Amino acid sequence: MAFPAKLMGRIIRRTIWRWAAITLALLLDSAALADDSMTRERQAMVAEVAAMARDFRSGTAGGSIDTRVLAVLGRLPRHEFVPWPLRAAAYENRPLPVGHGQTISQPYIVAVMTDLLKVGAGDTVLEVGTGSGYQAAVLAELGVKVSTIEIVEPLGREAAERLRRRGYSGITTRIGDGYHGWPGQGQFDAIMVTAAASHVPPPLLRQLKSGGRMVIPVGPPFQTQQLMLVEKRADGTLLTRQLMPVSFVPLTGGGQN
Ligand code: SAH
Repeated sequence: MAFPAKLMGRIIRRTIWRWAAITLALLLDSAALADDSMTRERQAMVAEVAAMARDFRSGTAGGSIDTRVLAVLGRLPRHEFVPWPLRAAAYENRPLPVGHGQTISQPYIVAVMTDLLKVGAGDTVLEVGTGSGYQAAVLAELGVKVSTIEIVEPLGREAAERLRRRGYSGITTRIGDGYHGWPGQGQFDAIMVTAAASHVPPPLLRQLKSGGRMVIPVGPPFQTQQLMLVEKRADGTLLTRQLMPVSFVPLTGGGQN
């Protein structure tokens, strides 16, 4: 009588293993399908960004975004930078909330601002407003050394952890008021401010190298601002241009009062 019991046990074990294998295969398959559809959505997003730049004649070349920047947007998993419930919307070309009343910028704006900095491998960039860390990752993917400051501590800590997990050794993060820049880091080849300021912070101008470029939205909070490009000429004088209307969350902190 022991034999049928053993046989039953073996059949049950085999059935359990088989179902486990089928479940695992289905899970892996649906993960692969989800990955595929994310990749397709990301490519569509990049095409839309490029088309918008053409229509609005934005970016350094007046209508075409640097292909290196578009390539980065095409491979960076934006869905890993947004809160879990918003992942399905990650490749829509719009800003999304990232908590604490803050947002991850619209991909089109990320592309235009990155393009305007005209940076490449080995350049140093200061970013004010780490937010999700996405913009910092875009710059790092271009080989840039990024120093990024966030004033909202939990956001800054989350972004730092996310960037560390993704293995970006070229990004240094800090919690603090970016109005004052990052004293002690020397001057930067470029500066990007991703929150709306009432004026261009003088400490940031001091921390910009001669020949360097800064992009910053300037204007009243919770209204439309102007994206400004500030170039510091070799002789130290400034050339400032208003490029396009934008809408950013406000730059907070001491320097705005
Ligand atoms: N670059 C971000 C989006 C930035 S949203 C991304 O890729 O996701 C603007 C961010 O600027 C917010 O997270 C806000 O908390 C931060 N911020 C506002 N004022 C700041 C200041 N004075 N110093 C540093 N960060 C600031």
